[in-house]
Amino acid sequence: MALGRGEVGRLSQAQITRAFPKILSDLERMSLAGAALELVRGTAPVRAADARVFSATVGMLEAFDQAEVARNEMLLAFALRLIATLGFAPRLDMCGRCGKRAPVEKPAYFDPGMGAVVCRDCGGGRLKLSADARARMTACFSGTWAEAAHDAWPKAVFTEARKATVGVLSEHLGREVDLLSTYQ
Ligand SMILES: [Zn+2]
Repeated sequence: MALGRGEVGRLSQAQITRAFPKILSDLERMSLAGAALELVRGTAPVRAADARVFSATVGMLEAFDQAEVARNEMLLAFALRLIATLGFAPRLDMCGRCGKRAPVEKPAYFDPGMGAVVCRDCGGGRLKLSADARARMTACFSGTWAEAAHDAWPKAVFTEARKATVGVLSEHLGREVDLLSTYQ
């Protein structure tokens, strides 16, 4: 892109710098990666060209392209990664009201509206998250989210994590978000 006088740029050369051949040749991969892109579009603030969101999104496409198998867990894991990138990762290690630590080996109540686990003394929350679900969700908050989704999750754990993630997204966006709802 060359900028001449005025504000109109001239595109003199274009190059494809990345290609995702496996995504483009595999319907399952394409569908999951497409849903992830849709999520980025619906979640990231339109006017904030955020380099971290861009980088997480490119990482998502690479992960879907490189994975041996495209799993629903990858879409869920990326949703959590995106939530964390946008700054509203749910608090899973301590009560969102009183700050009491939630023992890592025990299940905890979760309140999507607060985006945090809530201890029994503080009234609990409408969802329950097992220790396994909390550990797996926490692992998704970082750049290594795809590793956390490398293997299939136990079905019950996936369901818990999916409900909590959808709850957080829906509360944050102020509308019902549909994410992998056919995989209860
Ligand atoms: Zn509490």
